[in-house]
Amino acid sequence: MFCPKCKSEFEEGIQVCPECNFDLVNELTEEDFVDFVKVFESSDPNLTVIIKSILDDAGIKYFVPGDNMQSILGAKFAFAFGADMGNAVFLVSQENAEIAKELLKEVENSEIVE
Ligand SMILES: [Zn+2]
Repeated sequence: MFCPKCKSEFEEGIQVCPECNFDLVNELTEEDFVDFVKVFESSDPNLTVIIKSILDDAGIKYFVPGDNMQSILGAKFAFAFGADMGNAVFLVSQENAEIAKELLKEVENSEIVE
């Protein structure tokens, strides 16, 4: 079960997202992601871990299709957002996009130094 608002996955039996108070749905569709923006894309698993911890620390909700969802649906989302095969794509809601991009800009820059 998924929350159409925060895209969190819940166990079977839970009907309403405790955070958003939204009715859960069996599957998310592409329409559930219209208000989401791609803020980062990487094929580097180490970098992916860093990005996740940065967004977690900032309290920004993110969604990584094809990572959170090991499914054809996940791959479809990734493709819809223009990701290359095997790349992790970070999607955040439009309201958080600017903050997330600002935070991740520093990661991109520091990565070049490596
Ligand atoms: Zn929710």
